[in-house]
Amino acid sequence: DGLIWLDGELVDWRDAKVHVLTHTLHYGMGVFEGVRAYETDQGAAIFRLQEHTDRLFRSAHILNMKLPYSKEELNEAQRAAVRENNLDSAYIRPMAFLGSEGMGLRADNLKVHVMVAAWEWPAYMGEEAKTQGIKIRTSSYTRHHVNITMCKAKANGNYINSMLALREAIDSGCEEALLLDNEGYVAEGSGENFFLIRDGIIYTPELTSCLDGITRKTIIEMAQSLGYEVREKRITRDEVYVADEAFFTGTAAEVLPIQSLDGRIIGEGRRGPVTEKLQTMYFDTVTGKNPF
Ligand code: PLP
Repeated sequence: DGLIWLDGELVDWRDAKVHVLTHTLHYGMGVFEGVRAYETDQGAAIFRLQEHTDRLFRSAHILNMKLPYSKEELNEAQRAAVRENNLDSAYIRPMAFLGSEGMGLRADNLKVHVMVAAWEWPAYMGEEAKTQGIKIRTSSYTRHHVNITMCKAKANGNYINSMLALREAIDSGCEEALLLDNEGYVAEGSGENFFLIRDGIIYTPELTSCLDGITRKTIIEMAQSLGYEVREKRITRDEVYVADEAFFTGTAAEVLPIQSLDGRIIGEGRRGPVTEKLQTMYFDTVTGKNPF
């Protein structure tokens, strides 16, 4: 139930449909965002809306898709999707995809459609995970070539590996996967950026094989404002095993402590003090309690 913004109009949730010959359904050429609105004293507030819209446009540019709306129109579409569905807090999903005007890789007459849906978001991995942390495993799937060259794009086609990696992790009793790049260095989770802490210094992979996460950037800025040194560098798997703390960041995952990797307990095996400080600062900021 509710309304979805589709090609410039709010339409009934049930009428927001695509044809089975929608080009993106077949070939995966599409871009999307994951955005979140939090309940604040001033009503629902969309966190880092402009940054998400900017990234959607960058993703589309990388894929050579021309979005038929301005950034401001898509900002407003996201606000409308929250407002018109009377949501206090929401997950917002903008997506641009190619229509069904043609089939095959050579089709060049395809319309670029844009939709924005918003819905209430339950806790991503449960409340307990926020303090106890999650178990993760190194994935047998890597961030392959397309992901590495195209990792700045939040593109539909980039998520096959993420889904395979996540399923593999869940099937082996873990909650999330850690994907390595082609050279064996830590890249990111299936939908999260990765951080570790060792001797009071915070490390995160460089932006060579992971998405330029908006939460990642926020956390780097918050950590620096608290006086921590943040180093972007290549991280190996064994560095994670012997880290004092590790956590994931993402719009959906927020700041999520990691308990163990491949059965090796990390630090105390639950949320560490630095992670807790950053997590608290993040939640206080997104909910408008104590804006950063
Ligand atoms: N890495 C991948 C592959 C993602 O899909 C996401 C989710 O958006 C992230 C990292 C985290 O990015 P952000 O903090 O912008 O949500």
